[in-house]
Amino acid sequence: MLADIRRFVGRISDRFKRGFYGPTFRCPVCHFVLAAVDADGNGLLVCPVCGAVIEIEAVYGHIVPVVLDMELYRPQPKLRLHPMATHLPIGLFPVALLGAVTLLAATLLQRLGLASAVPGGRASVLASAVLVLLVLSVGASLATLASGLWDWNFRYRRRSYRQIRLKIACSIVFLAVGAGAIALHASGLVFAASGLMHLDSAAGLVAALAYLVALGANMVVLATLGHLGGTLVFGR
Ligand SMILES: [Zn+2]
Repeated sequence: MLADIRRFVGRISDRFKRGFYGPTFRCPVCHFVLAAVDADGNGLLVCPVCGAVIEIEAVYGHIVPVVLDMELYRPQPKLRLHPMATHLPIGLFPVALLGAVTLLAATLLQRLGLASAVPGGRASVLASAVLVLLVLSVGASLATLASGLWDWNFRYRRRSYRQIRLKIACSIVFLAVGAGAIALHASGLVFAASGLMHLDSAAGLVAALAYLVALGANMVVLATLGHLGGTLVFGR
């Protein structure tokens, strides 16, 4: 079952990578996957993980990476703000999603006539906690994005890397979709004062669906960001 899910996700990500990265090759030193399009006008690029200076040779249509040198001086800030800053969004957002799914389950249980399954007052506390978690995780992601841009500027010298472009795009999507989910939550369109969802009206149903889809989609974006960040630290 788990292997099937991994294969399925792997197929989707491979297709996406082929489209976004174009032809790729592995760094001969650390095996990190690099996009040929990131090479400069002289066909040179520096591996962001190990610092190998690679020249791309095209031999009969195949990419042959040749290591010319190793980048010896590479800023390694002692205070690694970006990896630290990732903990708040990555740690808190899934808990907010879990809270929202719990509130959906509580609302459905109540609608099925199992009202006693939802203790009075608890749902409104949980709804407030979910909002606080969302604000904290999406708000903290601003600091994560800023520290990531700082790292790209200094540690990677603003070189072009597909992975970093994708990370910047995903961060902006996470912020925008997260802000939309917070606005929906705070507007009162999704949750009643009791903390349960408004599933009895068409507007409430649409708002709840949009809210849950936004949270689910952002979880995928967050997982992608974490995965890409992991590959930039540990290589393959
Ligand atoms: Zn490398």
